[in-house]
Amino acid sequence: MNYQIEGRVAVVTGGSSGIGFATLRLLLAEGAKVAFCGRDTERLSAAAETLRAEFPAAAVFACRCDVLNAQEVQDFAGRVERELGPADMLINNAGQGYVATLEQTPDSAWLHEAQLKLFGVLNPLNAFLPQLRRSDRGSVTCVNSLLALQPEEHMIATSAARAALLNMTLNLSKTLVEQGIRVNSILLGMVESGQWRRRFEQRDDRSQSWETWIAGIAQKRGIPMGRLGKPEEAAQALLFLASPLASFTTGATLDVSGGFSRHL
Ligand code: NDP
Repeated sequence: MNYQIEGRVAVVTGGSSGIGFATLRLLLAEGAKVAFCGRDTERLSAAAETLRAEFPAAAVFACRCDVLNAQEVQDFAGRVERELGPADMLINNAGQGYVATLEQTPDSAWLHEAQLKLFGVLNPLNAFLPQLRRSDRGSVTCVNSLLALQPEEHMIATSAARAALLNMTLNLSKTLVEQGIRVNSILLGMVESGQWRRRFEQRDDRSQSWETWIAGIAQKRGIPMGRLGKPEEAAQALLFLASPLASFTTGATLDVSGGFSRHL
């Protein structure tokens, strides 16, 4: 399959691990030029080194940038254009979830979740919009969660913030369609990645292996496919929506949850 993105510029926020990193590998395999950001410089450099070793001829640009800092994101956008040319695809992936019930969630966490889910997309969108407008196939693709439609009590603030993001992305798709820019999202269930690795490190039963622990979560949560998703599986959905293969699709969501969805 030809994704028609060879030589095109793709930007992935939060590309130094997990789903973002898997997405960068797929984009590079399809011949795109890639730029990515993250906050931890060591993780960023290690990710860039791994990608350059795997794709020696590829254009890879990594830059430290917190998506919640509008000025840093503006600077990142300027540097991307100078290094690689104007962006054609923006993939908003940076972030993490907040596991806590109502009683465990302070006001500050509510505010932070809302800020991360909304401004984590708005800041990159504002910074890259002038570049995307100049592309003949501009796209914005957001990583979102099934929590947006199927809230969970143990992630109350994240669920609400995810719903707000879903609402905003549908609205953006209407605003930007006239400018030739498509806006879509993926809705994730649970995907093996950095977040789950960190939760694994804090597990109660230290004798459990990663495989047993992950299988236990899939069983306990009742994921019909009996496992968590792989980062590559989320990345494949992102690549499709970001690429011209989805040229007549905007304002859409693609479920990547192993059958976990229970809403119509
Ligand atoms: P990882 O922790 O593996 O990757 C997160 C990436 O985002 C890292 O590169 C991290 O780098 C970066 N990042 C986090 N915060 C910021 C920030 N403020 N500015 C810039 N970069 C940032 O997690 P995943 O791959 O699992 O997560 C990717 C996305 O998928 C997240 O938005 C997450 O909420 C979402 N998601 C994941 C699910 C899952 O089960 N894995 C389920 C539902 C949604 P650094 O820390 O160095 O900044």
